[in-house]
Amino acid sequence: MKLYQISSHLHFYCYFWKLKKSTLEQYSSKLLQNAVDAFARLPGIGRKTALRLVLHLLKQPLEEVELFGESITRLRKEVIYCQKCHNISDRHLCHICSSSARDETLVCVVENIRDVIAVENTGRFNGLYHVLGGIISPIDGIGPNDLNIESLINRIKEDKVKEVILALSTTMEGDTTNYYIYKIINTPDLKVTTIARGIAIGDELEYADEITLGRSITNRTLYENAMSK
Ligand SMILES: [Zn+2]
Repeated sequence: MKLYQISSHLHFYCYFWKLKKSTLEQYSSKLLQNAVDAFARLPGIGRKTALRLVLHLLKQPLEEVELFGESITRLRKEVIYCQKCHNISDRHLCHICSSSARDETLVCVVENIRDVIAVENTGRFNGLYHVLGGIISPIDGIGPNDLNIESLINRIKEDKVKEVILALSTTMEGDTTNYYIYKIINTPDLKVTTIARGIAIGDELEYADEITLGRSITNRTLYENAMSK
């Protein structure tokens, strides 16, 4: 048997041994097992990391762990969403919507709260936001009615919005959602723009660096023109 064949056989056995081990993973305590299971359900956390985090918490003073648990429970129970822009807030109107320094006739439409943080971090935007809560994605069963589109239409009328910036991810789903919204809100009195494609096609907004994203907002173009490109 040649060396590379031995090596590939070894890989094969190691893989199955690991698989067997993980399915038979046993902990010395049901409490430990429950805590690891809970952490491992979080996105991006594997079982090894979950175990490491749980063991870390076990070593902390009880008061600290109680505070940790309480902050998560309170977050889930008490958090409210801004009535105007749907951003996470402690009040019915978030600090951005209630600021008199911001231009309420300029509204930037984003997919989620992470995108609000990304645009805010650029320091280049002085208007308000509208968080859609997702993008149209038939594969995931998300249609226009699952998103905060109706409240956007009402806002445009009530707040006399002059410009809407469509700042969704440059993915196919993002483009579809942009087009859907454009078709609904487009009137002669409203300027509809989209962020400049300094953001590479397929990029998600939250992963763009602050300078690129800031420039994309400053150099935004009319949606009509962007569509025909
Ligand atoms: Zn708000």
